[in-house]
Amino acid sequence: MHVTTKAIVLRETNYKESDKILTVLTPDLGRITVQARGCRKKGNGLSAACQLLVWSEMTLSEFRGRWTVTEAAVELEFRSLRSDLDKLALGSYFAEILESVVREESPADELLPLLLNCLYALDQLDKPLGQVKAAFELRAMSLAGFEPLLDGCAVCDREPDVPRLNLTQGVLHCAECSGEAGDGISMPLSREVLSAMRHILSCPGKKLLSFRLDEGSMTQLGDVCEAYLLTQTERGYRTLDYYKELQAPMTAFQNRK
Ligand SMILES: [Zn+2]
Repeated sequence: MHVTTKAIVLRETNYKESDKILTVLTPDLGRITVQARGCRKKGNGLSAACQLLVWSEMTLSEFRGRWTVTEAAVELEFRSLRSDLDKLALGSYFAEILESVVREESPADELLPLLLNCLYALDQLDKPLGQVKAAFELRAMSLAGFEPLLDGCAVCDREPDVPRLNLTQGVLHCAECSGEAGDGISMPLSREVLSAMRHILSCPGKKLLSFRLDEGSMTQLGDVCEAYLLTQTERGYRTLDYYKELQAPMTAFQNRK
């Protein structure tokens, strides 16, 4: 069977002398594993498309449940993202999240556009990396079926004066209702952060980054969205550890000033 589809590479692993095994996300087939024969040879026609975070049109052939790339034409390379270590690390983290939450051969109708929009933002828009990261994490959780309920306090139903998010239960509650909000750690949210989170969860995809926060609130939003994702998916991400390692020397430097 032959299929022509758009695809983005979420993971690449070298295989044999000149092949790669790729995890790709496609609109039609969801997440699939494909072999790219000879793509590490110099001048091979598949080379450019068979790299992490490249969006291309691929012709795939299937034989006994195994997919092979036979042709590929690059559509978007995200060159400026690729030439910036921090942005590339963040994009790789987005890819690892999707690899984790999208099941093999199940559709990812909304997660795929989310990934492309956020990679585009890193590549072309001058948004703070922390903003793109938080928005991706929270929106991806929602689209993957882990949407936190932020309408009102889960216990008393009122708009909380001092809002908190229970990371395990995925619910908002007031400080006074903490005792009845269920097991798990809760994190405090400022009103600004809560409204940014509501925006991220409910806005049209193209408006995802159309919100502003001061530096302190952006840090809180980042902490909450990351902690929520790690709690809900119950795992760590090596790409996140790497991204944080890259950020660490900069923070140390800023603190010294
Ligand atoms: Zn309450």
